[in-house]
Amino acid sequence: MDTASPFGTHRAVDPAGALPYQAKRLDLSLPLKPGELLIDVERLNIDSASMTQLAAAHGHDPERVGAAIDAIVETCGKMHNPVTGSGGMLIGRVAAVGPDTAKPLAQVGDRIATLVSLTTTPLRLDRIDNVDLTSHQVVVKGQALLFENSLLAVLPDDLPETLVLAALDVCGAPAQTHRLVGPDDRVLIIGAGGKSGILCTYVAAKQVRDPRQVIAFDYKDEIVARAAEAAPGVTTMVGDATDAVGLMLAVSAATDHAMVDLVINCVNVPNTEMACILATKDRGRIYFFSMATNFQAAALGAESVGQDIDMLIGNGYARGHADFTLDLLRESEVLRRLLQGR
Ligand code: NAP
Repeated sequence: MDTASPFGTHRAVDPAGALPYQAKRLDLSLPLKPGELLIDVERLNIDSASMTQLAAAHGHDPERVGAAIDAIVETCGKMHNPVTGSGGMLIGRVAAVGPDTAKPLAQVGDRIATLVSLTTTPLRLDRIDNVDLTSHQVVVKGQALLFENSLLAVLPDDLPETLVLAALDVCGAPAQTHRLVGPDDRVLIIGAGGKSGILCTYVAAKQVRDPRQVIAFDYKDEIVARAAEAAPGVTTMVGDATDAVGLMLAVSAATDHAMVDLVINCVNVPNTEMACILATKDRGRIYFFSMATNFQAAALGAESVGQDIDMLIGNGYARGHADFTLDLLRESEVLRRLLQGR
């Protein structure tokens, strides 16, 4: 096919012409089409829900997880975890720009991070050199394609690359938090000690009048302590987000039965929808950033307990989200240290 879609439908081979997320297989064969960029890929950041699932399914063995990633990319022409439906993003260097491209997203030689999901990015892996199950980063050699409407960030030279990759993977979450949290809101952040959770806790604490209005919730004391270090003064709470009633009772006790205006879900495991729903007050909101969220469980679950609340699907994109998040890292040494540690 000689024409190129700005959304990449021309790269779908099964079914032909599908949008890249829906396609079972994408094709990366050359030559480049107008508007496309060819990227020499150096590192993948597998999204947390996907890496958590792959690690559990393959005995937490980096070699087996690497083989599983290789097999998915070989079969699908993209890193699209069939269980979680999620991907991640990558960094690499622009190797070539398609012909007749009036406004390329970046120039040949630029080091970039993709801001569109690996589930929509044609990818070929020639080699996997290292799989880090803690940072979820995978050192590879391969190539990828971006389309005219793809999103990317040229890597800044004032921040470490692995830190930038980790932060940009979740940069939609702090940007959306900035939009959603008002000064009088009481906010519950679930998975607050993880990557996106730390960033969201930091932003929410800046938005409210009193940081105590923000409840940072995570699995273990030492993990939730990270959120409190990023945003001193927030209320901390420890427990299991799959225990919906337990979390509801804890939030009720902490808020004098008022419950919270907004829940931000940043966990990497399934079955946390009901905990969010029961912790939210009447006409409150939930932002499901987690990729382990089940739409049916959330929609039918809210109905089943008579909760009149608004639930937002975690769109990973918000205009300016990458710059917003990188500026957070520039302004806070603590954030840089905590995210580098993740
Ligand atoms: P992360 O760093 O792994 O953080 C997840 C946090 O949740 C961890 O602190 C984890 O604790 C905690 N947690 C796990 N199970 C829990 C439980 N039962 N109760 C309480 N806390 C629990 O993940 P991330 O990189 O921030 O990503 C968070 C989510 O966002 C993932 O689902 C990821 O796939 C998703 N995501 C969404 C988008 C989007 O565009 N919407 C983009 C990127 C990522 P442990 O460390 O002890 O497990």
